[in-house]
Amino acid sequence: MNAINASSVASIRSPKSLAEICADVRAGRSSARVRVDAFLAEIAARDGEIHAFNEVHADAARAAADAIDATVKAGRDPGTLAGAVIAIKDNIVMREGHTTCSSKMLANYRSPFDATVIERLRAAGAIFIGKTNLDEFAMGSSTENSAFGATRNPWDTSRVPGGSSGGSAAAVAAGFCDASLGSDTGGSIRQPAALCGCVGFKPTYGRVSRYGLVAFGSSLDQIGPFAHSVADAALVYDTIVGRDALDSTTADSPSTPLAAKVAEPLTKLRIGVPREYRSDANAPAVAAVLEKAIVAAKALGAEIVDIDLPLTDIGISTYYVIAPAEASSNLARYDGIRYGHRASLAPGDDLEDLYSKSRAEGFGPEVQRRIMLGTYVLSSGYYDAYYKRALQARRLIKEEFDRAFTQCDVVLGPTSPVVAFPFGGKKDPLSMYLCDVYTVNTNIAGIPGISFNGGYADELGTKLPVGLQLQAPAFAEETLLRAAAMLERACAD
Ligand code: GLN
Repeated sequence: MNAINASSVASIRSPKSLAEICADVRAGRSSARVRVDAFLAEIAARDGEIHAFNEVHADAARAAADAIDATVKAGRDPGTLAGAVIAIKDNIVMREGHTTCSSKMLANYRSPFDATVIERLRAAGAIFIGKTNLDEFAMGSSTENSAFGATRNPWDTSRVPGGSSGGSAAAVAAGFCDASLGSDTGGSIRQPAALCGCVGFKPTYGRVSRYGLVAFGSSLDQIGPFAHSVADAALVYDTIVGRDALDSTTADSPSTPLAAKVAEPLTKLRIGVPREYRSDANAPAVAAVLEKAIVAAKALGAEIVDIDLPLTDIGISTYYVIAPAEASSNLARYDGIRYGHRASLAPGDDLEDLYSKSRAEGFGPEVQRRIMLGTYVLSSGYYDAYYKRALQARRLIKEEFDRAFTQCDVVLGPTSPVVAFPFGGKKDPLSMYLCDVYTVNTNIAGIPGISFNGGYADELGTKLPVGLQLQAPAFAEETLLRAAAMLERACAD
């Protein structure tokens, strides 16, 4: 049965923006503690069915809220995100509770330190409500690969929320928090945002520190926010963006605060729509929402430019060489000694047995598949044929985007070719991988991308959200977010 239908999802959304909510807490007009208690009550009532959370940090959240309220009472400023209640994907480390990556391998892992994004949010007055479920080590597009059970889509609990950050998307969509953090290596923020009807934003590679994010594909990984609106996502992004001495890949490029700017419409916006994104493989409702958005964008005065991105097709094969290659290297540290689950040994077992038994018991099937794939493409004899070619393809994909962005300011298309699908709906790995056909090239090129709700599909009487994606040149977050806010409004009308 669907405990939560579309209208209850819509009704729990606050009519206020996150900036207004935080301004109220900061001025003492509303209490952080009251807000936290309200979210905890929602979670207690409904997360048994949704399973957005691996762990709820009720006591820590209440204590943090009390501290915020006390700061306000004492006449001091608790920060720009005062009282913002935020859920964290369980592959980002923090001092409270465990960080499991939804893997048996890390089921008991506790971090002795906070990730940089956690430190920055905490300093701005944000309150952490808990850790959200994901596909094990962020590998998947449905959250079915979690070792602790799948997350359900709040719009229809017989369907997946997308993945790998399915818990973070569902937590926002179900009204369990104001915003959440996810990680995106090939679409893991944008695709679940699309399937759950919220906003999911992957910044440019290097914009946000990954210090304290458990690494998957280090040349692709990026942290970003989920939120109820583009403006709310911008507010969270403004807090976590920027150079971090603890992550040498972070960029020095300045970022001016965008939350207050996103409402300013862009004049002379050129929106590129790739022919390849209007594929026959898109579900009819997805295609219809895209065409409607194009009409709405024209009505706003935007110029629609037909463009070509013929390398869209090779994105998945390129990604599934590069990401597993990097994952196989990053996951080598989970050997039962340095990190992770340690198997019990039989008499006569040696060190090799300790490694292989621990890894066989600790990692689930999809993670094992990726490690084998990655080890294979990096092995001598296959390195040139696979890994080196994938790096060449990566360069071509990047150059293709560079060319496209001489014709347009942003690229528009569907986030996912399909809407939320039923559990078990994608049985073979390849059909699951194809969910990310429109999102992987963003990471391969290192550019920013955002998914926002474009409209709805009617699947046998069930209302399901359809996400649209905008992509922009590297470091053009301002254009991206302003264009997204324009289209978000236009599509909602
Ligand atoms: N779904 C893709 C994968 O399985 C992307 C995951 C991600 O972005 N973390 O690898």
